[in-house]
Amino acid sequence: MFIISACLAGIPCRYNGESKLNKDIRQLVRDGEAILVCPEQLGGLTTPRKPSEIKNGLVIDKDGKDVTFEFKKGANIVLKIAQEYGCKRAILKSRSPSCGAGEIYDGSFSSTLVQGNGITAQLLIDNGIKVITEDEL
Ligand code: SF4
Repeated sequence: MFIISACLAGIPCRYNGESKLNKDIRQLVRDGEAILVCPEQLGGLTTPRKPSEIKNGLVIDKDGKDVTFEFKKGANIVLKIAQEYGCKRAILKSRSPSCGAGEIYDGSFSSTLVQGNGITAQLLIDNGIKVITEDEL
């Protein structure tokens, strides 16, 4: 069973109220192989919402508001779901400040990428869950 970023399955939960459908991932869901999560919504953020990026360990939205608490809350709920259902693998949305794995934006809102993981991806990795992004499928 995979933990999967809900936006990759066509759920319109992204900051801009849209999804990012990946058809291979939709098939995994149809086959009953996936649990869909959106950590930012689970953390209590609205959809749509301001885009956010990680800078100096904090998550800051485009208006300068610190949303680290909500991002961490959502990440902890996702971890709990993964543990409850014995999920050992996750396929998460690339470059997201929650879900990105391997590279994320640098906090300057200038589309500049740096090495790093989103808040949820990092927490899952720290707890032994293998995380890849849709780019690695
Ligand atoms: Fe998709 Fe993750 Fe962002 Fe939710 S938090 S919209 S699941 S990338």
